[in-house]
Amino acid sequence: MKKIALITGASSGIGKATALKFAHRGYDLILCGRREERLIELKNELSTYVNIETLVFDVRNNAEVNSAINSLPNNWKAIDVLVNNAGNAHGHSSIDTGDIVDWDAMIDGNVKGLLYVSKVVIPQMVDRKSGHIINLSSIAGKQTYENGAVYCASKKAVEAISEGMRLDLTKHGIKITNVAPGAVSTEFSEVRFKGDVKKANSIYEGYEPLLAEDIADVILYAVSAPNRVTIADVTVYAKAQSAPTTIYKNN
Ligand code: NDP
Repeated sequence: MKKIALITGASSGIGKATALKFAHRGYDLILCGRREERLIELKNELSTYVNIETLVFDVRNNAEVNSAINSLPNNWKAIDVLVNNAGNAHGHSSIDTGDIVDWDAMIDGNVKGLLYVSKVVIPQMVDRKSGHIINLSSIAGKQTYENGAVYCASKKAVEAISEGMRLDLTKHGIKITNVAPGAVSTEFSEVRFKGDVKKANSIYEGYEPLLAEDIADVILYAVSAPNRVTIADVTVYAKAQSAPTTIYKNN
């Protein structure tokens, strides 16, 4: 039977790569993000393979999250897989000089946004005694690094939420997978450095960073494993990386 996956942050990077892999595996997809034109473009590309719905909302706005997901036609409401991927780092500053606007964006988006979306999607999974939630954490959720206190805190919260979801939802037949990537070459650094492309590119120079499709492969593996298997927690590094700020560069 066809499965339905809802992917937040499908307009770019890991979310988009996951959408492409899922579509080729036959999932019907609910693509979410704020940049509608990108979602429509992806919908047009994938509609030849599978059915696609797009939802435009900001995960930080609980009212928007609720009304968007509740607006889905009835035949789209039985969501089998939720990929809680939307999120970003905003800024890279010491705790004494950090910007409150950046802190709010990270805590509201990466933590509260993930909770808001999950809150709407989980009840139908509980009713159906089936479902799979993939939460995008980060190696920043495993180990704090200098100038990253609030982003790391937001991802440590994702780690705690993944553990808590697994404790609370296993009895309802729902699987939880926490994925913690290292450096992935996406728009992530461009957002973190507020459009400074040179600085953003420098993050990925001198070594081979992970690609968005590498993380999408891990997510696809987790959802394709036999029903008896839960892939609980996966950390993925680029070959050249051994800790958040330890990268072996060849120049
Ligand atoms: P991108 O910047 O390429 O993509 C981020 C996605 O999240 C976009 O589709 C964006 O969509 C969406 N998004 C961000 N904020 C919001 C919001 N407030 N409301 C709705 N959607 C939002 O980055 P990545 O693909 O790299 O990031 C995906 C996830 O992976 C994030 O949670 C990130 O923290 C995590 N991660 C990334 C790593 C990396 O090195 N790249 C490493 C570890 C974890 P739109 O702007 O259209 O709303």
